Amino acid sequence: MTLEELDKKYVLQTYNRNYTNFVKGEGSTLFAENGDDYIDFASGIAVNSVGHNNPTLVKALQEQVEKIIHISNLQVIEPQAKLAEKICTLANYDGAIFFANSGAEANEGAIKIARKYGETKFEKKRYKVITLEHSFHGRTITTVKATGQESFHSPNFSPYPAGFSYVDGLDAVYENLDDETVAVMIELVQGEGGVQPFEKEAIQKLAQYLKEREVLLIVDEVQTGIYRTGAMLASNMYEIEPDIITMAKGLGGGVPIGAVMTKHKDVLVAGDHGSTFGGNYLSTRAGLAVLEVLSDMYESGKLTETLAYFTVKLKEIQKKYSHLFTQEVGLGLMRGLRAKDNDTMKAVLTKAMEKRVIVLSAGRNTVRFLPSLTITASEIDEGFKRFEEAITSL
Ligand SMILES: *Cc1c(COP(=O)(O)O)cnc(C)c1O
Repeated sequence: MTLEELDKKYVLQTYNRNYTNFVKGEGSTLFAENGDDYIDFASGIAVNSVGHNNPTLVKALQEQVEKIIHISNLQVIEPQAKLAEKICTLANYDGAIFFANSGAEANEGAIKIARKYGETKFEKKRYKVITLEHSFHGRTITTVKATGQESFHSPNFSPYPAGFSYVDGLDAVYENLDDETVAVMIELVQGEGGVQPFEKEAIQKLAQYLKEREVLLIVDEVQTGIYRTGAMLASNMYEIEPDIITMAKGLGGGVPIGAVMTKHKDVLVAGDHGSTFGGNYLSTRAGLAVLEVLSDMYESGKLTETLAYFTVKLKEIQKKYSHLFTQEVGLGLMRGLRAKDNDTMKAVLTKAMEKRVIVLSAGRNTVRFLPSLTITASEIDEGFKRFEEAITSL
């Protein structure tokens, strides 16, 4: 059997897969089995934050694997405690962290914290969670219900948990709050929803309003977090202090990890929540190595330089090909080009792959760029050269 046949026979077909077999990666370049090189502008959907085969990450993992990969959370785990401290310090956040294994799981943790807060803190129970249209919060039954896109709420998976509603835009949040609302959950840049950032003033206003009413603000930073937008957290860029922040994608550099961080440290107590794998030696050691690389880049100004360079290139493409792309959107190294329609977006993705540069799609007909934060200027140049070759014929 070919690899494609094997996959189609034995793997549940939940993805529309491309069948290029990648066997090695180096920085932001991926190599296929036949030796072809591809520029990786996707980094595994914002996961390979420090690129492929990053020496600091590889060395940390090798050292850790030879010692302990995993014990249970019934023992203290040194890299877990250190990673929690590191995240709080870099995010300048006075909180504590629970470690999970994915973004959806981190959001589940956030919702559990909010629900218990709403149950125990007020005379009248608060349990409702408001989210936004075009949002994405995960694929579990609860987080899919929290996702503000009707297409995700297929009756095939019903019934869904009660207490979730989504509204169109930040202004609509105010009208929809009631005395049973416990939390509002938002992304600061809607990733899957089209790489759409919200206005800083509007976010700050909402944060203040919710705080006055003791309604929790949950910020889903699964995609925006870990320097993706140019700061440790998008919340740092927006200068807000949410009650709960979730992270995942870029944190482990490819090793599965999720994290929920809150300033309400006393809400969950022993027995309230748990995870077999969450925060084990392997994933938290990975997180420490990733943050070592990225915080150095941030402090030296290298990250700002990289994202400025990438932005200039992307803006040039949008201007030159404005018949294809109506708008350039995003923040930091989370960016997109709005295609004029869905067919154009799809054609761009196909052509880009043919020219060996990997980009992604997102909502609102967006061609999405999520390169590694360690991408070099020459990889950016080469990637955009190929991208232009791909789209000139369209
Ligand atoms: C990817 C993503 C998730 C889901 O993360 P998984 O690791 O796939 O469960 C949740 N929220 C946002 C904003 C995301 O981008």
